[in-house]
Parts: sequence; C-alpha cells; structure tokens
Amino acid sequence: MRDFLTSDDDWIRFGPGAEAEAASLLTRLGAERVLLVCQERYRGGADRVAEALGDRAAGVFSGVTVQVPEDVAQAAVDATRQAEADWVVAHGGGSAVGVAKAVALRCDVSVGAVPTTYAGSERTRIYGLMQGGHKVTGRDDRVRPRLVVYDPELTRGLPRVLSLKSILNALAHSIEALYAVQATDRARQAARDSLAPLLDGFTGIDADPSDLEARAEATYGAYLAAEALDGASMALHHKLAHVLGGSFGTPHADTHAILLPYTLAFNAPAAPEAVAALSQAWSTDAPAGHLHGVMTAAGLPTSLRTLGLDEAAISRAAELAARKAYPNPRPLDRDGFHAVLSAALSGAAPV
Ligand code: NAD
Repeated sequence: MRDFLTSDDDWIRFGPGAEAEAASLLTRLGAERVLLVCQERYRGGADRVAEALGDRAAGVFSGVTVQVPEDVAQAAVDATRQAEADWVVAHGGGSAVGVAKAVALRCDVSVGAVPTTYAGSERTRIYGLMQGGHKVTGRDDRVRPRLVVYDPELTRGLPRVLSLKSILNALAHSIEALYAVQATDRARQAARDSLAPLLDGFTGIDADPSDLEARAEATYGAYLAAEALDGASMALHHKLAHVLGGSFGTPHADTHAILLPYTLAFNAPAAPEAVAALSQAWSTDAPAGHLHGVMTAAGLPTSLRTLGLDEAAISRAAELAARKAYPNPRPLDRDGFHAVLSAALSGAAPV
C-alpha cells in the first residue's frame, strides 16, 4: 500500500486516514480561520475537518454545485468575507476545488484541498468558472492549493462508474502532457509515472470498488496526473472536450472518457515517445486499442451517440474546433477534428 509522498516545495499528505491530519497540518501552516467548501450532499467530510479544527474553523460553505457557476462563486466569496477566513479548504471533487480557487482570485486567502475524486484540480494553477454563460479558464499562482491531503478512503464513496470516468479524466491529462508541445520535464515525468497506477487503479476498482489498494493506486496516479496537467499545455483532446461540453452541453467526465481512445489514436503517429511510454507502462503495442478494450470490458460507453450527438452535431463541432489554431503534435484542421469525432461517434475500436 502506498502510504506517503514527499514533495520538495508543497505540502502534500497521502494515505488512508490522512484526512484526520488535515486540521493539524493547517494549524502548522499558520491557518487561523478556515472556511471549508463542499457539496451539501457530501458535507460529512468538511464537518469532520471543521470539528477537528475547533476554534480555527470559520464555517462550512456547502453551496458547491457541478462546475463553478457565477452565483455559487459569489456566494462563496461572500461567505469567505463574512467569516473573515484566511484559508479556504475544498473537501470534494473538481467542482469544490474550483469554487475555492474562484474565492482565491477575489480574496486574499490560501487554498487547501481534500480531494474525493481523481480529476486533479487540486495540484494546478488552472481555474475555470462560468461567466456570462461561457466557461472562462486561466492560470494564476494564487489559486494553487498550498496543502493537499490525499486520503484514498474518501474516494471509496465514489460509485464504480463515476470512479472509472474520473480516472479517465486524469489519464487524459497525463496522455496530453506526454505529447504536449510545451511541458516541463517534471510534468512529463509525472505523466509517465502516472500511467501504470491509473490503469491498475482502473482495473482494480472495476473489479471491486471497495478495494482500498486499488483506490490508493488511483489516488497516487491522480496526484501525478495533476502534476502533469499543471506543467503542460493541453492539446486536441481538451480542445474537443471543451467544444463538446461548451456548445453541446455534454457532461464533463463522460466526454473526456469517450474521446480519449480516439484522440490518442489520432495523435499516436506524431507522438512516438508518448506511445513508447504508454506501451511500456501498459505492456501493449497498441495503447489506444488497449484503452478502448478496458473501457469496453468495464461496460463504459465508447460512442458519442450515448451523449446525444449525431453526424450533424459532430460536423458543427469540427467547424467550431477548427476556428482557432491549437498546439498539437499532429497538425489540426477541420478534417482532422472531424475524423476524430467520426471515430468517437462510431464507438468502434480505434485503428
Ligand atoms: P465534481 O466535483 O463535479 O464531482 C463529480 C461527481 O462526483 C459529482 O456528481 C459529485 O457529486 C460526485 N462526488 C464527488 N465526491 C464524491 C464522493 N466522495 N462520493 C460520491 N460522489 C462524489 O467533478 P470532478 O469530476 O471531480 O472534476 C471535474 C470538474 O473539475 C470540472 O468542472 C473540470 O473542469 C474541473 N477540473 C479542473 C481542473 C483544473 O486544474 N482547474 C482539473 C481537473 C478538473
């Protein structure tokens, strides 16, 4: 069982039961008034941390919804100001972390995170919020959590299918970091190191969602994938996921999951080092087909049709995607985007 991590420049705790250390770590970091941020349905974890913090707890904001709508961000900012908080700690998935980040853009606070999914926002300087009906993203040092407590026990509550899709979300970050046009050495190394634990976590959780060893592998892989995301530019895959989510309202995790084998297959001829890393980590000479195979075996959908898309929608999506140049190892034009989307519409094993 993986039970610890060390990091040279940040505070990260890792291991089953690590949530119990969150309060003392926050105290050691000088936190005086901590606002916890979570979804109401899953506020149990935030309440536990608040209780352990005692008089350093400044309250629990439980208004997180999916994504980061403007009104939710504003309500969290108001709660932070009212509580005079100096730390905002997200307990939850990427949506909770996103709300804490939105607060850090507008208030002078440090951010912490206790993640309960594998999406990976907790290690990045990237923020994303809805403004005027559009998702606005950017990078800002202030939003990067200073403390992250990874407790695999917390992800046991995540249902099997949601867990598998969340792992694929993390894997998409790693795969794009492997072939990114711009990436730090650290990001590429983290991406390579994440491949085996993410796939082991995927197959282990698929077999038994309560398997703590598999949960720990997935959590470790998620941490590495988040490091990869923070230090690399994203490419084709994220462009298409953004277009489909933004213009067709397809759900975030499903869109990433379905696209991934096809975006990987498209870029593979132009990304030999990425293919070599994947082949080695997964003991296969056809990583995109292998990924499609494990997804199919787990009963996950592999066609964009399951998200309500059809030929007309993907033609429109290809046009939208091609409007702006995007860094990608293989040159991209409308036909390229359309080829990837057609393959993903079919749901068949990528060639
Ligand atoms: P999320 O926080 O919306 O969680 C996904 C689902 O899991 C939700 O339905 C939630 O209710 C459920 N959930 C969360 N914790 C649970 C638990 N312990 N038990 C049961 N269910 C639980 O989203 P996510 O998948 O964690 O992250 C995706 C979001 O994060 C997207 O908005 C994405 O854009 C963002 N994101 C941002 C970054 C970044 O660096 N800024 C990185 C990755 C993802």
